[in-house]
Amino acid sequence: MTDRAPGFATLAIHAGAQPDPTTGARATPIYQTTSFVFDDVDHAASLFGLQAFGNIYTRIGNPTCAVLEERVAALEGGTAALAVASGHAAEHLVFHTLLEPGDEFIAAKKLYGGSINQFNHAYRKFGWNVVWAEGDDPASFARAVTPKTKAIFIESIANPGGVIFDIAGIAAVAKQAGVPLIVDNTLASPYLIRPIEHGADIVVHSLTKFLGGHGNSIGGIIVDAGSFDWLKAGKRYPSLTAPRPEYAGMVLAETFGNFAFAIAARVLGLRDLGPALSPFNAFQILTGIETLPLRMKKHSDNALAVARFLSTHPQVSWVSYPGLPGDKYHALAQRYAPKGAGAVFTFGLKGGNAAGIALVSNLTLFSHLANVGDTRSLVIHPASTTHRQLTDEQKAIAGAGPDVVRLSIGIEDAEDLIADLDQALKAGA
Ligand code: PLP
Repeated sequence: MTDRAPGFATLAIHAGAQPDPTTGARATPIYQTTSFVFDDVDHAASLFGLQAFGNIYTRIGNPTCAVLEERVAALEGGTAALAVASGHAAEHLVFHTLLEPGDEFIAAKKLYGGSINQFNHAYRKFGWNVVWAEGDDPASFARAVTPKTKAIFIESIANPGGVIFDIAGIAAVAKQAGVPLIVDNTLASPYLIRPIEHGADIVVHSLTKFLGGHGNSIGGIIVDAGSFDWLKAGKRYPSLTAPRPEYAGMVLAETFGNFAFAIAARVLGLRDLGPALSPFNAFQILTGIETLPLRMKKHSDNALAVARFLSTHPQVSWVSYPGLPGDKYHALAQRYAPKGAGAVFTFGLKGGNAAGIALVSNLTLFSHLANVGDTRSLVIHPASTTHRQLTDEQKAIAGAGPDVVRLSIGIEDAEDLIADLDQALKAGA
């Protein structure tokens, strides 16, 4: 090995992984076991008391999942990570670690519909109150800050509208308010955007999408940037700064320093709420990550070609793809995602709802389903599916009105995707 810091593509293949010390297996083995044998009683006691790191039980940690955690932490530039059962589980454990009943957090209105739903309904049952920022600009977030604010949540590239957020501007608002900035980086992946470099304190992913990349496994991950000073925030984050009765009075922020958030999410959140990632899914996602740089480049190049085609099509009223010059978010895309603006975007059909339904029915190469980030190209009509729980007003604000179609562009040949869209639009004319 040289002293050179490894590049992104090298980390995508090697970070966290070693040949298996027992068998020499080069691919990371699937440690398909519930539990791990202790060396002796003292070893068991030190693991349970958080005095030593090691494996106890797969709900709390597993060696296959640990390789995935180390790899994504390296790709995002964080200090540590925690892999969990889904993207929603990652969001849940982040907020469980940060919030007490009665607390508020600020979120962007332009988010994945499932997150809007989770925040509006499920979280209110825990007494966690979402405050929606009026616009996407940093000033809108600043106006929403109150003494009860404990965190700010945005997506780097919002699903489904192709909106790019000013991460550094919103990070400055969070810093001023003394709260962590959480960025859902699912649609960008760390290949396109690394939110920690722009001031994010916590990054979450649905691994189900581009990191896994093949549409075969659900998973999520939390990355701790190690940047937030929990002790300085005093009593505002008791999970991190109050003595923990279950760990002999240990204060997690004192003991674990710049990876305390990842530890707290594991030993208080994952341990007690239980959404563990299966080692098999961790293996599938790790295999996907090995080709992340190649896939993301092809996804973005194809998406730009398809967006260009649609933007000149007579049946299309608008295209919202930040990679297109002239798009409202083009300048932010050039600043935050210079390698490409991702694969997911929306466009509007002049024929409205009926034309949207005809399009999804007439496409043959695109699959009509509720996912993004597959090797295959995917299409959906958000108003009748992913965003259907929202009111008409919320749908419009989230960029999911009746004329809107969302595409997740795969890594097939761009010419074939354009030909499929062309024939489906003609058939629906
Ligand atoms: N965040 C974003 C941006 C998403 O697109 C999704 C799912 O589509 C999620 C979170 C939730 O992830 P999961 O389906 O893995 O729970």
